[in-house]
Amino acid sequence: YLGHEPLPRKNSAGIELTDPCAVEPLLQAVEATQDKSWSGGPIIDGTAAAADLPVVNPATGETVGHTANASEAQIQQAFASAAEHQRAWNRLGGNARATILDKVADLYEQHMDELVAMICREAGRTLNDGISEVREAVDFCRYYANGARQHFSTPTVLPGPTGESNELSLCGRGVFVCISPWNFPLAIFTGQVVAALAAGNGVLAKPAEQTPLIAARAIQLMHEAGVPGEVLHLVTGTGAAVGKPLLDDPRVAGVAFTGSTETAKHINRQLAAKDGPIVPLIAETGGQNVMIVDSTALPEQVVDDVIQSAFLSAGQRCSALRILCVQDVIADNLLNMLKGACEELTLGDPARLETDIGPVIDEKALGLLEKHRERMAQEAKPLFSFDPARQPASGTFFGPQVVEIEDFNLLKREVFGPFLHVVRFKAEELEDVIQRINATGYGLTFGLHSRIEGRAGAIFKRVDAGNCYVNRDMVGAVVGVNPFGGMGLSGTGPKAGGPHYLFRFANEKTKTVNT
Ligand code: GLU
Repeated sequence: YLGHEPLPRKNSAGIELTDPCAVEPLLQAVEATQDKSWSGGPIIDGTAAAADLPVVNPATGETVGHTANASEAQIQQAFASAAEHQRAWNRLGGNARATILDKVADLYEQHMDELVAMICREAGRTLNDGISEVREAVDFCRYYANGARQHFSTPTVLPGPTGESNELSLCGRGVFVCISPWNFPLAIFTGQVVAALAAGNGVLAKPAEQTPLIAARAIQLMHEAGVPGEVLHLVTGTGAAVGKPLLDDPRVAGVAFTGSTETAKHINRQLAAKDGPIVPLIAETGGQNVMIVDSTALPEQVVDDVIQSAFLSAGQRCSALRILCVQDVIADNLLNMLKGACEELTLGDPARLETDIGPVIDEKALGLLEKHRERMAQEAKPLFSFDPARQPASGTFFGPQVVEIEDFNLLKREVFGPFLHVVRFKAEELEDVIQRINATGYGLTFGLHSRIEGRAGAIFKRVDAGNCYVNRDMVGAVVGVNPFGGMGLSGTGPKAGGPHYLFRFANEKTKTVNT
């Protein structure tokens, strides 16, 4: 692509969990938030509005803070202000914006313990997940800051005939609406917002209704770093309450969305129907992610990677493994080992370091999983079901489940939780398995465990998936290392944390001068 050379950058360091000196302050920070109540209502023009709707900790059902549905007047004010001030933010240039976004990363790192505690208490994510998430958010800030320096500070000179100079510049499109999910309430929220800001846009950020508190804290830190309050606004609320005024406004110049495929299609239709410019949608949606394990795979490693991919983060990642395809000759042995490993998992308080799996996000998510379990009890062969006696009595917990199914067709929709479906295949059916993967229409992550030379390369070319992982787990994409995002029902691209992401947030202008 055109532009300037990538700039050097390091990924965030995080916390060493085996080092008691590093862990103690984190545990104390989490402990200190036990009785804390946060406020996370709309923040318009830098001013936080009152909030009175309770936000609950999914692990305990306790109220951890309050939020509010932004009113139509507040949304109007945010659009008017962002549209007016976006131009100055854009004119500031890529270098100056990058300095501010690097400062956001520094502030996140300085507040690591507090942010992890909030993620844990509001979203029920484990400490381990919380640390990874803050690191990812920091990485997004620095990565897109570098992108702003690289592509949005000086124009790219293009060739032309004698007597003519040509250059290509990138600039912000206007006001972006960023709609983010609860499963990465800081990282995805930050990634979308910072990308839009880096490219020179004003932003109205709409976090998931389940996780407005951490979003409000992130916005405060962004403002503290120097992003003007008039350029970046927080619009909290349910989709039903704020979706329409947010998307119907003619000042919307682009939308970044992460969530379900159905909602992405709904947003697309709404944007197409409204007045104003043709609005691009950047959507990162669901997956029906498959891992193929052939007879040459290393079973111990497979088990570890399956546990990591299917069950950690309570399976609440769009990248998570849903269908494990195992070659028949190794299946019994592998599934026995997997069962043993599942029995070792601990389900419970996400604030305890030894917990592997925390709660699912809310009653609705739990209800959908329970319904799926009932259906699978009729239509699939049970292989493992987590012992309910080892599960906390309160909170929205769902123990890992493994079932064997005959065919992918049994799964029409993404099952968002720790639920693994196993399919056996014979050596001669490998091609058919690949066709069935592509036929799901999704295309997010894909895993392969095989030691056959050349197999990975051959399958990679035929499988429609955005992120293909070989002989490892298939979650936890690292910014700038595993750019993340899929195709088909899984999203529009471009990949988050990849070199092309910022371009979709930008307008392109050429300047041709007759010299
Ligand atoms: N980027 C995350 C991963 O690689 C998943 C993001 C999501 O669930 O939306 O695991």
